[in-house]
Amino acid sequence: MARKIAVLPESISQIIAAGEVIERPASVVKELMENSIDAGSTEIIVELTSGGLQSIRVMDNGEGMDPEDAPVALQRYATSKIKSSEDLYAIHTLGFRGEALPSIAQVSKMTLRTRNPHSLIGTEVICEGGEIKRILEIGCPVGTEVEVKNLFYNIPVKRKFLKSIQSELRHILNHFIRLSLSYPFISFKLIHEGHLLQEHIKATAPEQRIEDIFGSEVYHHLRPMGYETGEIKITGFASLPNFSKRNSGDLYFYVNGRFIKDRIIYKAVLDSYRHVLPSNQFPVVILFIHVPPSTIDVNVHPTKAEVKFKDSEKIYQAIRSALSMNGGEPITLPKEKNESLLSTSQEHFALPLPSMIHQEENAFLIREREEKIWEPQKRWPYPVLGQIQGTYILCEGEDHLIFIDQHAAHERILFERFKEEYENHSIASERLLLPILLELSMEESLLLESIGEGLKLMGFEIDPVGERLFAICSFPSLIGRRDLKEVVREILHDLSSIERSDQTEGVIHQILVTLACHSAIRGNYSLRREEMDQLLDQLASFSLSSTCPHGRPIFFPFPINELRKQFKRK
Ligand code: ADP
Ligand code: MG
Repeated sequence: MARKIAVLPESISQIIAAGEVIERPASVVKELMENSIDAGSTEIIVELTSGGLQSIRVMDNGEGMDPEDAPVALQRYATSKIKSSEDLYAIHTLGFRGEALPSIAQVSKMTLRTRNPHSLIGTEVICEGGEIKRILEIGCPVGTEVEVKNLFYNIPVKRKFLKSIQSELRHILNHFIRLSLSYPFISFKLIHEGHLLQEHIKATAPEQRIEDIFGSEVYHHLRPMGYETGEIKITGFASLPNFSKRNSGDLYFYVNGRFIKDRIIYKAVLDSYRHVLPSNQFPVVILFIHVPPSTIDVNVHPTKAEVKFKDSEKIYQAIRSALSMNGGEPITLPKEKNESLLSTSQEHFALPLPSMIHQEENAFLIREREEKIWEPQKRWPYPVLGQIQGTYILCEGEDHLIFIDQHAAHERILFERFKEEYENHSIASERLLLPILLELSMEESLLLESIGEGLKLMGFEIDPVGERLFAICSFPSLIGRRDLKEVVREILHDLSSIERSDQTEGVIHQILVTLACHSAIRGNYSLRREEMDQLLDQLASFSLSSTCPHGRPIFFPFPINELRKQFKRK
């Protein structure tokens, strides 16, 4: 009988291995920037065309490579950073596995140009699909330049999975910002299609870089912190309790200079703010954790995005202490006594990582169930019995008690109205006498530009007036002028989890959802009787599904029969 199991030919296994490290243009940018940092560069320039889909070029002024070393660097497991297995547990560089260059070379057309300060002549290595085509002597400045063209040209399936230019660009920007934050003494430039998107000039102090990246508005709410216990040292910046964001996108955690996602760190940070921020609000926290390299394993994740701590309980405690200390100016986060990871271990495993939160939200947006359970009527037929906890309205139906979530109901009403106005091209827009200025992060600005058309159709007029600075000139009348800045930020946040921001319909739908949610009455808000009646009459006039635009239920019917049972009536 023929054997079923066969070892894959190298040509295939190498592509598989490359795919683990290189998922998309952003992975290339990350790996190349890390190499430049490891090479001791003080200046790093990233140049892209078509969001990196067409070409990525990373140039540095680091130590470069010898003519003999340059071609070797392209071989799998070729590295200058570790020599023995012991070195694996004492890693001080960002790279160490010798996988990046060969993986990138495997799935692209790559050119490497490099010269080290000791040689007068540089080397050029031209590579295609993992094969070295030519090695030349060239004249070039000291340092290294890697140019990657047509990523995944030899793996069409992978290319298909790539998203729009804007979306790839946002992934790249994330990596660019993460690295720029942790290396303030290196100058970074990001250029897309000839436009300078970001420039961070070599800082003289870390806080300068923080202000540069977050903008002065956010920076104003941050305080530096520092803490040391035993072998653990923590420095960083944390927002004051009076400031918060609606998403967890501004939590940056580094372990020995490496950006990582870690649920223990995440939990420690959020626990520290638990009693000062509402549960749906997040702080801005940048944490640099330094531990002896021998106490962590960095070799647990294909793209090194996670590490394993030998003693995570200690890390948890250290972060809790760090965030409750006063680093010069008081950060008044109340500290709970004796709270240990062990005592809350169940909760900690249930805690979603930032990336998971995004996925969930995404699912909500898509899951707008269209099952209609209500035909339009002029009036709401069920008498209101009262309001519960300022949040739910209770009505009496024929066989059911009906609980209604007032926020979800109002959200649905507004959504339907906005949608109607939009579909009839009758969105009323109001002009502001004095435009409202809005400072955005680079990521938000990019997104704003890419959804400009959608916002305009919805009655917004938002003009760029400077780098990352925008002026809100008009807004849709239906939402009122309250908190306009906040609304725009919310729209951007909600849209950031949509991958195809180039598809207007999806964008419009999401903007409608956000506007409705933002403008709807909240829970914990008491309503007068007439207000409840009015709300329900409005609700009744639409053909309705049972859920709000977010996919949460609006109604909850409770069978009166159940009461009968409970009271043991026949
Ligand atoms: P690793 O970073 O894990 O060592 P890479 O495949 O990324 O593996 O790089 C292989 C080797 O090539 C590095 O160890 C380093 O010696 C050399 N190298 C790569 N990029 C640069 C650069 N920008 N400047 C100098 N040397 C580099
Ligand atoms: Mg590397």
